[in-house]
Amino acid sequence: MSDELPVLGQAPSAPGPAAPLAAPRPGARSVYLETYGCQMNLADTELLRRILLGAGYRMVDAPEDADVILLNTCAVREHAETRVIGRAAQLHGLRRHRPGMTLGVLGCMAQRLAAELPRRAPFVDLVVGPDAYRRLPELLEQTGEDAVLDVRHRRGEDYAGIEPARRQGCTGWVTIMRGCDRFCSFCVVPFVRGRERSLPVREILDQVARAAETGVREVTLLGQTVNSYRHGGTSFADLLRQVAAVPGIWRVRFTSPHPADLSADTIEALASVPSVCPSLHLPVQSGSDAQLALMHRGYTVAHYRGLVEQLRSRVPDLALTTDVVVGFCGETDADYALTVALMEEVRFDGAFLFKYSPREGTHAWRHLPDDVPAATKQERLERIIALQERISEERNRAWTGRSVEVLIEACSGPSAGTPATAHGRTPQGKNVVVAGEQVVGTRVQVRVARTTAHTLIGTGVDSDEP
Ligand code: SF4
Repeated sequence: MSDELPVLGQAPSAPGPAAPLAAPRPGARSVYLETYGCQMNLADTELLRRILLGAGYRMVDAPEDADVILLNTCAVREHAETRVIGRAAQLHGLRRHRPGMTLGVLGCMAQRLAAELPRRAPFVDLVVGPDAYRRLPELLEQTGEDAVLDVRHRRGEDYAGIEPARRQGCTGWVTIMRGCDRFCSFCVVPFVRGRERSLPVREILDQVARAAETGVREVTLLGQTVNSYRHGGTSFADLLRQVAAVPGIWRVRFTSPHPADLSADTIEALASVPSVCPSLHLPVQSGSDAQLALMHRGYTVAHYRGLVEQLRSRVPDLALTTDVVVGFCGETDADYALTVALMEEVRFDGAFLFKYSPREGTHAWRHLPDDVPAATKQERLERIIALQERISEERNRAWTGRSVEVLIEACSGPSAGTPATAHGRTPQGKNVVVAGEQVVGTRVQVRVARTTAHTLIGTGVDSDEP
């Protein structure tokens, strides 16, 4: 499970060269897409854009300009769902000026709340689950008086053959598997995204090659449990090596791996393939075996600790990040203390930290009392946030004075007295701010002058190429 990201509006259109596109017809309907949730959802939005562009729609950057407004949603946390319903109600208000506008809710929340949405948000015209995106143009044609729904799970749907319309830039996502078979007791993802399925190797390599042709230099392989990828005889580690060999690709990342599936071969690929980045987001969730068992996570703390030891001995300078949930069912002070101790011991570079809230339909919602008081959850969360801030700050500070390779992702300024700055990331995934103008899509060596808990700040550029 990945962290929830902030709301993103429509990214600039960047159709790749491979999939044939119908040119928008004169008078073609315009679409505004807004995305909530994890990187998988952001990648799905690129898929949706391709499907809509291919059907002759044109994309716009503002909801006020749209004939069709689509919200691609997340179901991982309840507050995200509440926020989407509020946002849909607000967008419904635009109908005062555009009475024929179509409003749709897509994605995980649409899947989870299909039965309730017509009652909770009667102004929504279209409800489409993650396995029904191919039918979106057809479903849009059917909208009218009553809401149109398609939330069927299609076990074979992997969207092979559809080239995502990627954002322009030097980084890109490639979804390599969809769904999840793990059924962690707190998680709604397997219910909304369906069972695990891996894309064919050829499809993935072609997508990566086409992304490289359009200027992508860093590719992130995505999957709910990305390292459980298997297609025919190809394992995840095999795939990593093949993706790393695609001409034009300088860096390969992947997210999110599951600790129970992290093989020695994958660690070996991380250690030995230069373009596979030394960064890993490995969700631990808790430092207590009792909690991990209740969560149905499928590993123990000792197993996780063993992975960290192997990773750190084989991959020097590895940046390790994680997810932690506090206040899960039955979490005692002693369980919580074990989580704190593990965080102190492992010293993650960063962490997404959450307090538990039950999700309807999950094993925990059905069978485990949500018995940690809200105030205790909050207090535990605040304590680990403070702890992680300190550790992140200390780990970043250790980079001071070092020369790091930065792939420049964006530049801003100079303007109105503000000097130019460039933004990028190191192979470890550390955010870097560099003074001065740089060229997006190039790698530069930067001397780290100072650091914060979240950023390295570089003052000088040593050379144009590492
Ligand atoms: S591995 Fe667990 S937490 Fe992650 S998506 Fe699957 S069920 Fe959810």
